[in-house]
Amino acid sequence: MVEMLIAGERTAGEASEALDVVDPATEETLESVPRASAQDVDRAVSAADAAFAEWSRTDAEDRANLLRKAIGLIERDRKDLVTSLVHEQGKPVTEAGGEVHHLLHGLNYYADLATKVRGSYQALPSALSKAYGMVLRRPMGVVAAIVPNNFPLTLLGTKLAPALMAGNTVVVKPAATTPLTTLKIAELLLEAEIPPGVVNVITGRGSEVGDALVTHPQVRRVAFTGSTAVGRHIMSLAAPQLKRMTMELGGSDPVIVCPDANVKAAARGIAIGRFWNCGQMCLGGKRVYVFDEVYDQLMEELVKTVGKYEPGLGWEKAEKPKIRVGPLHTSDGRDEVMEQLQDALDGGGELLLGGDKPEGAGYFMEPTIVGNPPVDSRVAREETFGPLLPVWRVSSLDEAIERSNDTEYGLGASVWTYDIRTVHRVANEVEAGMKWVNQFHYGYDELPFGGVKASGYGKEHGMEGLDYYLEDVPVVVGGLE
Ligand code: NDP
Repeated sequence: MVEMLIAGERTAGEASEALDVVDPATEETLESVPRASAQDVDRAVSAADAAFAEWSRTDAEDRANLLRKAIGLIERDRKDLVTSLVHEQGKPVTEAGGEVHHLLHGLNYYADLATKVRGSYQALPSALSKAYGMVLRRPMGVVAAIVPNNFPLTLLGTKLAPALMAGNTVVVKPAATTPLTTLKIAELLLEAEIPPGVVNVITGRGSEVGDALVTHPQVRRVAFTGSTAVGRHIMSLAAPQLKRMTMELGGSDPVIVCPDANVKAAARGIAIGRFWNCGQMCLGGKRVYVFDEVYDQLMEELVKTVGKYEPGLGWEKAEKPKIRVGPLHTSDGRDEVMEQLQDALDGGGELLLGGDKPEGAGYFMEPTIVGNPPVDSRVAREETFGPLLPVWRVSSLDEAIERSNDTEYGLGASVWTYDIRTVHRVANEVEAGMKWVNQFHYGYDELPFGGVKASGYGKEHGMEGLDYYLEDVPVVVGGLE
C-alpha cells in the first residue's frame, strides 16, 4: 500500500482500509492507497493549521527557493512521474510528458511571482489627513485543494503553487483513482525541505471524506476542480461557513467555424482540442458549429485528421502518422459517453467516424464524430467527457451564437475567422469565461483561467490565480500629529 502523507509522515490512516488504484488501459490493479476517514481529514487539517504560523512568516524569497528546489527534484524524477501518470490515468506517454512539463512551467511561474506580491499605500486627503492607509495582503490559512482525475498533476500545480507562494498551507484531496502521482509530488516537496505539515495528502473517496474536508472549521479556502454536480454539493456545504471558494467545473465549449476560416488549421485545432486526453478535458471544443459554405470541406478534413487517432496502450507510441489516444479513465465514464452517442444517433445524427468500443481489456472507445444530431440531444446540452464530437451546420453568426449559448455551461469557446467584426461579436456575446480565435483550446499559465454560468467562478493561473489565495486587509494608521 502507498500511504497518505500527513504532517510529513506516511500513514495508513485510522480505518486501515484500502482502495485499489486500477490501470484503465489494462484493468489491472497497480497499487492500493488508504481509504481515509473523517478522523484522518481532521489530522491533516490540524497538521496544516499547525504549520501555517511559521510558513506564513517565512520570507517569500525563501518559500520560492524551496519550491525551486522541489522543481529540480521533479525534473530529476520526470521519467518516473510520466510513467506513473500513464498507468494511473491512462493518457499516452507524450501527453503525460506534456503534463509534467506544464506542471513545471506553472510551478516556475509562481515561484517567480512569490516576491512580486504588492500591497499598496494610500495617502488619505479627507478628514483623516493626519493618517495614511495601506492595504496588506495576507495569506488565508489552510487551503483544501480538491483535484479531479483528468489532469492530476497540472491541476494540482495550479492550486498548490499559488497557495504555497502566498503563504498558505494545504490539504490535497486527489481523485480516488489518481492518487499515486500526487503522493510522489508530495514526497518530493518534503525532500526539498518544505516543512512537514505545509502540504498534506488525503487519499480515498470524495463521497466519504469530502464533506469533512470542506466543512472543517480550520479550512479557510476551498479550491475545487471537478464536475458541476460535485461543485454544487460542495458549495452548499461550505456556504454557511462563508468559506472562500473557487469552482473550476464542467464545460461544453462551442467552436464556431466561419466561411473565411483556414479549414485545415481549424480541423487540426478541433481534433486536438477534442481528442487530447481521450476527450476528457474541461476545456475542449465539445460542440462544433460550421457555416454551410465550409461544412463539407471541414468535415472531409476533420474525418481525415481524426481518422489518424488510434486507441491503444499509453506507454506504446503510435507509428507515424497515427496518433495515440488512450482509454477513458473509468468504465462508467465510457458507458456515459456511449449512451450520449446512442441518444444522438437515435435522434437522427449521422455517424461519420468511430462509434465502437474495441474488444478486450481497457476502457477504450474509438474517436467518434457525429453529424447534425438534434439540437436538444444530450450531446448538445450536456458535458461530453470522452472522445465524442458532435458537429452541426449553421447558416449565420446569429444562429451559431444562439446555439453556442444554449447550455448551462460557460467555460470556453472558440471561433475560426479572420473577420474582426466576428471576433468582436463572439468575444462579447458568447457566454464563456475564456475565448480562443484561430486557436485550439489551451490554458496558458500567464492568463487567468475560469468559467461562468454552471462552469463555476474564480480564476486560476496568472497573477489573478495568486490573488485568490490572499486577503486584502486595509489598515489606517493615525497618531502622526
Ligand atoms: P468529480 O467531480 O467526480 O471529482 C472531482 C474531485 O472531487 C475528486 O477528487 C473527487 O474525489 C472529489 N469529490 C467527489 N465527491 C466529493 C465530495 N462530496 N466532497 C468533496 N470532494 C468530492 O470530477 P472528475 O474527477 O470526474 O473530473 C471530471 C470533471 O472535472 C469534468 O466535469 C470536467 O469538466 C471537470 N474539470 C474542470 C476543469 C476546470 O478547470 N473547469 C478542469 C478539469 C476538469 P473522488 O475521485 O474520490 O470521487
